[in-house]
Amino acid sequence: MPELPEVETVVRTLRPALVGRVIQSAWLDWERSLVPMDVPFFLERIRGQRILGVERRAKYIVMPLSQDHLLIHLKMTGRLYVVSDSATHAADRWVHFRFQLEGGEQLRFSDSRKFGRVYLTADPASILGALGPEPLASDFTVTVFADRLKKRAGRIKPLLLNQTFLAGVGNIYADEALHLAKIHPRRGSATLTEGEIAALYGAIRQVLAQGIQAQGASVRWYRTPEGEKGQMQEALLVYDRAGQPCLTCQQGIIQKITLGQRGTHFCPHCQKED
Ligand SMILES: [Zn+2]
Repeated sequence: MPELPEVETVVRTLRPALVGRVIQSAWLDWERSLVPMDVPFFLERIRGQRILGVERRAKYIVMPLSQDHLLIHLKMTGRLYVVSDSATHAADRWVHFRFQLEGGEQLRFSDSRKFGRVYLTADPASILGALGPEPLASDFTVTVFADRLKKRAGRIKPLLLNQTFLAGVGNIYADEALHLAKIHPRRGSATLTEGEIAALYGAIRQVLAQGIQAQGASVRWYRTPEGEKGQMQEALLVYDRAGQPCLTCQQGIIQKITLGQRGTHFCPHCQKED
């Protein structure tokens, strides 16, 4: 699933192509992706609204429009791109939403698995309000992180994936951050030392920033709006590397376990459980 760096890459790429454009009409053929409104109301309501911005909150693409907010969540296989009306694109066969822009271009939402979600709402806080802090924001300090950790029980890896705890981190970047911080993913969040909390805080910000710089990780489905793969998969130290030697210590073999129903990768030599 695209995480913070992948969604940020999509947002940065789409922004110059979309800001200021008017949505003349919309088309869709998979209404289960549309929440929470009915299709005729959506099609009528979005008509003529101007796109005022293209932002990211957690893993949501957030577009303030002249009246409402258009929110898109890519989920597992969502891809967004802007092309001219007549252009064909490699991902077109999975397109379930098209937004016709003035000037002869379309924003297309391709989604093979159809888990993606599209929201048109006058009240974006009703969808985004419960999300935790943005890990790369300047007001997300190590003190804020430590305070939030103290209020939580349970194991650290599933907690990092909890979007109400921290926004935008998913399976890839959680595994990588825990590895860099030398913390076993099964550790109880309340047992982390001050030093470990500081290391984890730094590691989370480091891997996310690195991911953005690399235009995301194309482990499976993710592509940039230009149809390119990101580069971050080349730099991953543990994710998707089960059975291979650890690149950090050259001694451990990367293990894969299931934790909170998610595949979890770590080096037992670098990341001791106790
Ligand atoms: Zn290692």
